[in-house]
Amino acid sequence: MNENVERILFTEEQLKYRVREMAEEINNYYNGEAVTVISVLKGSVVFAVDLIKQLNMPVSLDFICASSYGSGTISSGKLIIKKDVELEIEGQNILLLEDIIDTGETLHEIIKMLKGRGTKSIATAMMFNKPARRKKAVQADFIGFDIPDEFVVGYGLDYDEQYRNLPYLGVLKRSVYEE
Ligand code: 5GP
Ligand code: MG
Repeated sequence: MNENVERILFTEEQLKYRVREMAEEINNYYNGEAVTVISVLKGSVVFAVDLIKQLNMPVSLDFICASSYGSGTISSGKLIIKKDVELEIEGQNILLLEDIIDTGETLHEIIKMLKGRGTKSIATAMMFNKPARRKKAVQADFIGFDIPDEFVVGYGLDYDEQYRNLPYLGVLKRSVYEE
């Protein structure tokens, strides 16, 4: 285990097994209809790679990099797009992949923006869900695991761009980011 990880929440095996189950749910949901998978950079890349190998419908893959910011008391709901999707998404079934949903602000804004482009449908799949700090009710169609309100790393999730490569999901030691 990495020296900066306090404890492991889900092992590589547990994550792999859950992704397989989620893929089955998603396959049943789409029933062979073509899907454009949009992976939200960078955190959901590991999840996306594992998931799409198990999907059995025609799949195209694209990426978006965005972050939301609110200004303290006023939730302005602004979205900064650092990298937009490149595929034509009008009239397409969109499956949006996120690593983790915390406040829900980012996903809320991305969904709003994509809907404005005339997509046929939008569904969301998130590997981890942290319901404790939710500010915006977001559409969550497929959820890997609910997790407690702790700062987690691994399986694509970073702290200061590190730890994305850990094959498990772990709680980061507080000493790493405090002081
Ligand atoms: P929100 O749902 O608050 O708009 O933001 C979700 C984003 O916050 C995620 O994509 C992720 O980048 C970051 N985030 C939230 N909680 C955690 C966590 O426990 N660990 C890590 N590494 N990132 C987190
Ligand atoms: Mg992130």
